[in-house]
Amino acid sequence: MKLQLAGVNHRTAPVEVRERLAIPEWRLEEATRKLLEHPGVAECVVFSTCNRVEFAVCSEVDADLRSFIREYLLTDASQIREHLYEYNGDDVVRHVFRVAASLDSMIVGEPQILGQVKHAYTVGKAVGSVHANMDALLSRALSVAKRVRTETSIGSSAVSVASVAVDLARKIFGSLQGRSVYVVGAGKMSELAARHLRSHGAETIFVSNRTHERAQQMAESVGGSAIHFERLYETADRADIVVTSTGAPHAIFRREHGELFMHRRKNRPMFFIDIAVPRDVDPEMSHVDGIFVYDIDDLQQVVKANVNDRGREAQRAEMLIEEEVLRFRHRMQNLDAVPTIVALQNRVEQIRQAEIERLRSKLGVLTPEQQSAIDSLTRSIVNKILHRPISALKHVSGSDELTTTAETLRNLFGIDDSTSRRNGTPSPTKETLNGLSTTTEPASASSPDTSDAKIAALHKSSSRR
Ligand code: NAP
Repeated sequence: MKLQLAGVNHRTAPVEVRERLAIPEWRLEEATRKLLEHPGVAECVVFSTCNRVEFAVCSEVDADLRSFIREYLLTDASQIREHLYEYNGDDVVRHVFRVAASLDSMIVGEPQILGQVKHAYTVGKAVGSVHANMDALLSRALSVAKRVRTETSIGSSAVSVASVAVDLARKIFGSLQGRSVYVVGAGKMSELAARHLRSHGAETIFVSNRTHERAQQMAESVGGSAIHFERLYETADRADIVVTSTGAPHAIFRREHGELFMHRRKNRPMFFIDIAVPRDVDPEMSHVDGIFVYDIDDLQQVVKANVNDRGREAQRAEMLIEEEVLRFRHRMQNLDAVPTIVALQNRVEQIRQAEIERLRSKLGVLTPEQQSAIDSLTRSIVNKILHRPISALKHVSGSDELTTTAETLRNLFGIDDSTSRRNGTPSPTKETLNGLSTTTEPASASSPDTSDAKIAALHKSSSRR
């Protein structure tokens, strides 16, 4: 199984490109389903946030992700070639870990990305595009993100795109004390922005949102005033600063609105901080004299200082990610060998049980102590016999040699797929799982339950092929 990923992010593509490719939340399921149907794709997830649109897949043969992007996003790949990155294998693991840990965010350490990764994972599970490999990757990515947060101070301050937007507003005016600010939208980002505006002394906060009740709730919580969305254009110019962050697929403020505002304000300047992707403010509006528009990419300048401050912590986090990438590689390699190890164990256990049964009729009634002695003797013989084949499988796991070694062992031990099927889904013994997990996970994270679920998922995924 190969891991592949293709996408664009805030570093490779400006907001005008990202907004064209952005997949709104309500289309995420459909996008994931379509990707799963794409030739070669066995498992997948789709990440679409204000900073990135990415397609991560597990494939048996190379999946042509560029052709998927072309077909699904109706975008000529040549138009986005310069913005597109593609990763394979360990680089996918590293990238997904860095994304989840907020190391690849515009604002390093912002916590929102973790929720967005979890959401992509949940959508993947709901549409059936997440099986053993993706499950292992994403569940580990979430744990790695948690580790980075607890072991470094990367996420120690409550920094977010919204808080940086407010920092920008403060930079523009020196101070927000006594200022009137207009917040458009009442979602997660708007709420954060409104709270930061309040805590930095903004005097009047107007809130307008498509669903008025949410605007009311938010206005109440920050001591602001809610304004009906229909009255947005007749009221927005009451404030010097408008912070806008809606999920609208089209611009909310256009050039004609800017002209109207300037006319009414007698050319007193007005500042728009637009953190939405797709953008809420049409770039044309910035051509109106007196209107100043800052979009999400302009915030990058503000966050540069922030990145420098966190440089050392980010370095520690990167080292931790490298350690986790290695650990994940071992784990996946072991996972490759699991079906054969389980089949071997089942086969030998079957022989052991049959021999004990045969012996029992000859020996007559045994005391519990005698039964236990026979049991432990035969188990010990079986484990010793299996030790070398299992070690050999683990040794070649993840390499091309695995297929040949597994086939040889299956032949030697008389295991074929039909034998495995006749015996039901092979279930790993505790020894196998512990043996596998000690090389990969701390004991607490590799309980037989967890591994059982992984094996079951693995069988599910192989039965789909
Ligand atoms: P959210 O919690 O889902 O809120 C979405 C907001 O947009 C709600 O107030 C919603 O109004 C409004 N909205 C949706 N469709 C609309 C439409 N067609 N017309 C007018 N209003 C509409 O989303 P969010 O996370 O705050 O994100 C909002 C924007 O910020 C997005 O463009 C996103 O890309 C960008 N952004 C998000 C993050 C992040 O970390 N979450 C970071 C940076 C930028 P209702 O209450 O009526 O539904």
